[in-house]
Amino acid sequence: MKYLRWCVVLLFLILPLGACTQKEQASGKGKVQIVTTLFPLYDFARVVGGDRVEVSLIIPPGVEPHSFEPKPEDMVRINRAGLFVYTNPYMEPWVAGLIKGIDRKRLTVVDASTGIAFLPAGDHDDDHDVNEGGHHHGGMDPHVWLSIPNARKMVDTIAAALEAKDPTNADFYRKNAAAYGDKLAELDRKFQAGLSSCGTRRFFHGGHYAFGYLADRYGLQYVSAYAISADAEPRPQKLTAMIDQIRSTGTKYIFYEELISPRVAETIARETGATLLKLNGIHNLSRDELHGGATYLSLMEQNLANLRMGLQCR
Ligand SMILES: [Zn+2]
Repeated sequence: MKYLRWCVVLLFLILPLGACTQKEQASGKGKVQIVTTLFPLYDFARVVGGDRVEVSLIIPPGVEPHSFEPKPEDMVRINRAGLFVYTNPYMEPWVAGLIKGIDRKRLTVVDASTGIAFLPAGDHDDDHDVNEGGHHHGGMDPHVWLSIPNARKMVDTIAAALEAKDPTNADFYRKNAAAYGDKLAELDRKFQAGLSSCGTRRFFHGGHYAFGYLADRYGLQYVSAYAISADAEPRPQKLTAMIDQIRSTGTKYIFYEELISPRVAETIARETGATLLKLNGIHNLSRDELHGGATYLSLMEQNLANLRMGLQCR
């Protein structure tokens, strides 16, 4: 009774909301509550945590995540969780402010990019505009999850945090992470083999600069219409140069993405006669994809199939 009263008092103070839920967790009633930002983190956390965790996404389906800012109710949800997993400081710069206001003893905040080497934001073979949107401090590319070995590191980081949070189930988390790590390693080998012998190694993308890590991993050259942030318009000179390049190299395919309207990609396709193919940056799924059971693995498989077609691989 005394405990219940305390909880009510704390509820009114709002901040230490989790004090009640954590007590429930310790009593064995609750599962570890995990809140994540982007879909890959959500997918990795549910694979590793299985039935011992409850995972939720704070960025709603279909919302452009680069310009996302959490609302007060999102802050409350994060504060109630046991584990909060974000991608990295370049993807979610708002986390730095969030961390100052929370009780770190109770809520574990996980930077999923721990141990990952960042690449600079922007492609290297042209005068790409970096940091146009102003959301990414330090000019590093936030899209680390699109390199499969990085994804594997992210899975291990999430597993280690879960093991520390819930030591009773540590073995369970470790095994799940290892089994999923094997699947990722197999997918990486499939990409390597599938992209080893292709008509071209350069791909053109009518979207924002999201595939730098993927291109780097498999030795591809990557040209995107937009800069790193999805909310700025591409410069007309950049589009003209891209159209010229596609024409002069006889490129047959151009990629579009899930976040930006395909208008720009369609314009380039119309101008050059190239065919449009989808390349999914797997930031944040649409409601249909989410309900249709799409996973990081299934979406990367689709990306590989489209890349193989676009690059004319044998
Ligand atoms: Zn992006």
